[in-house]
Amino acid sequence: APLVSLRGVAKRYATGTLALDGIDLAVRQGDFLALLGPSGCGKSTLLRIMAGLAAPSAGAIDWAAGEGRGDVGFVFQEPTLMPWATVLRNVTLPLELAGMKRAEAEDRAAEWLARVELGGFEHAYPRALSGGMKMRVSIARALVTRPRLLLLDEPFAALDEITRFRLNNDLLKLWQDERFTVVFVTHSVFESVFLAERIVVMAPRPGRIAQSLEVTAPAR
Ligand code: ADP
Ligand code: ADP
Repeated sequence: APLVSLRGVAKRYATGTLALDGIDLAVRQGDFLALLGPSGCGKSTLLRIMAGLAAPSAGAIDWAAGEGRGDVGFVFQEPTLMPWATVLRNVTLPLELAGMKRAEAEDRAAEWLARVELGGFEHAYPRALSGGMKMRVSIARALVTRPRLLLLDEPFAALDEITRFRLNNDLLKLWQDERFTVVFVTHSVFESVFLAERIVVMAPRPGRIAQSLEVTAPAR
């Protein structure tokens, strides 16, 4: 059974815009799925609905038994780090909110910071970090609670090409090691082909799934 499936999901905003119409999508456990499409085709809307941040106007979302919206990690294009808190504290917070003791949370957070190549930056503040490094903190923060589903909304779009390429490589390696389930929104064909096992191509007006392709990426 898929981890999460959407059946006939539609979204009409209060403005009247029909952002999604008749979306049927099943995300399998351990899948790396890219949602590819031009600006305005409803990718972000679909991701927010999967995260439970927006409600569909029609249709249903079914989670495999034991899974729920609380078990989702989200990475946005703008790393939304708390500027007054250290890198370590930014990553421990979701664990502490989940009830973990501070010392254990710090160990766990430090481990994830090392995995995203930020060992030694625990006590730095976000403003001291480059865009790529802030994105790495965001990824560590999203993964530290070990969510069953990781959602990324054009995470690397604002970064320079070299940083972007490095982050793509590192994300792919993390996924190969951990096999968490990923839905990655992008308008880059290159990124989709490089990263994903399955590419779901969306078309605008209204947002629909135009094509679903299985990929054997040359990188793996
Ligand atoms: P994408 O992520 O593919 O660029 P979005 O999901 O952001 O697409 O947007 C899909 C459509 O819904 C667009 O026409 C956009 O203008 C519209 N839209 C997105 N968010 C809102 C909102 N909060 N209120 C009204 N319309 C919105
Ligand atoms: P990344 O792809 O990790 O963002 P950058 O090109 O931003 O890479 O930085 C390359 C390396 O330079 C980083 O991994 C880090 O070791 C170092 N670095 C960048 N910015 C800073 C900073 N503000 N303070 C200390 N070291 C930095």
